[in-house]
Amino acid sequence: MKINIAKSAGFCFGVKHALNIAFKSVDSGANIDMLGDIVHNEDVVKQISQAGIKKISRLRKGASKTLLIRAHGAPAKTHQKAKSLGYKIIDSTCPMVKEIHMIAKKAEKKGCTIIIVGDQKHDEVRGIIGQLKKNPIVIDRLENIPLTKIKRIKKAAIVVQSTRNMEKTLAIVETLKQYIANLEFHNTICNPTRIKQQEMKIMPLKNDLVIVVGSKTSANTKRLYELSKSLNKKSYWIQSKNDINPSWFKGVKSVGITSGASTPDETTKAVVAEIKKL
Ligand code: SF4
Repeated sequence: MKINIAKSAGFCFGVKHALNIAFKSVDSGANIDMLGDIVHNEDVVKQISQAGIKKISRLRKGASKTLLIRAHGAPAKTHQKAKSLGYKIIDSTCPMVKEIHMIAKKAEKKGCTIIIVGDQKHDEVRGIIGQLKKNPIVIDRLENIPLTKIKRIKKAAIVVQSTRNMEKTLAIVETLKQYIANLEFHNTICNPTRIKQQEMKIMPLKNDLVIVVGSKTSANTKRLYELSKSLNKKSYWIQSKNDINPSWFKGVKSVGITSGASTPDETTKAVVAEIKKL
C-alpha cells in the first residue's frame, strides 16, 4: 500500500507563529493567562497547559499577569478590558487575521456595510466583528443569505474567514453581486488554506482512500474533510491513530494523508506509522 502525504499537511504559518510566541513568553517567566484555547487542537492545548499557560473563561484582576491573545485574534474590547484590569498583553494573533481586521475597519470607515463570509460562532469571526463599530452581516452559507437586508444595502465590503471553502465563498459573492451595486470583495482566505484546499482537489482523486487528521473542533480540518469526501467516498476524518479502523483498508492500494493547520506533525507521523503496520 502506497502512502502519500500532502506537502501542506500540518501547522500553518499562523499556528507556528502563535506557538513560538506562547513558548517564548513562558520562557521569559511571565505569568500567562489565555481566554480559551490557543488553537483548535487538543494535543497542542495540552502542551500549552503543561508549559504553564492558564486557560481562563473570563478576565479578572490582571496585575502582574500577562494575557496571551490567541491565533484567531480577539475583539478590540477584550484588549481594552485586559489593559484596564492591569494585564500586560502579548498578541499572538495570526498576521493574516490582523490583516482582515485592518481591511474591515478601513472599509467601515469608508461607509461600507461589512459582510463577513464565515461562521458567526467561530473565534476568528467574533474577533473580526469585535473590531467594528456597527454590527456586520455574517453569512455562513449560500442558503442563509438574508436577502431582505441585503437588498437595502447600497455600499458594502466582503471579507472572508481565513479558512473558508473557496468555491462556496465565491458562490456567495456572486449572489451578493446581483443585489449590491457598490460591492468590494476582499478574498481573505489565507494562503496556507488555499494551498491545503488545492491539494485536496487532487489527492482524493489520485488515492483509493484519504485520511484527514485533525481535531473535530478545527474548522479548517472540517473543510479539508468535506472537500475530500465530495470527491472520494472513502475519506475519513480522524483525531489520532486510535481512530483508525483496519477494515477501511481492505483492497486499498494507495492512501492519501493530510492534516489540518493546527495538527502537530507528531500526530500525523503516528497515524502514518500505524497505517504502515497494517
Ligand atoms: S489558517 Fe491561515 S489565518 Fe488561520 S492561523 Fe493559519 S495562516 Fe493564519
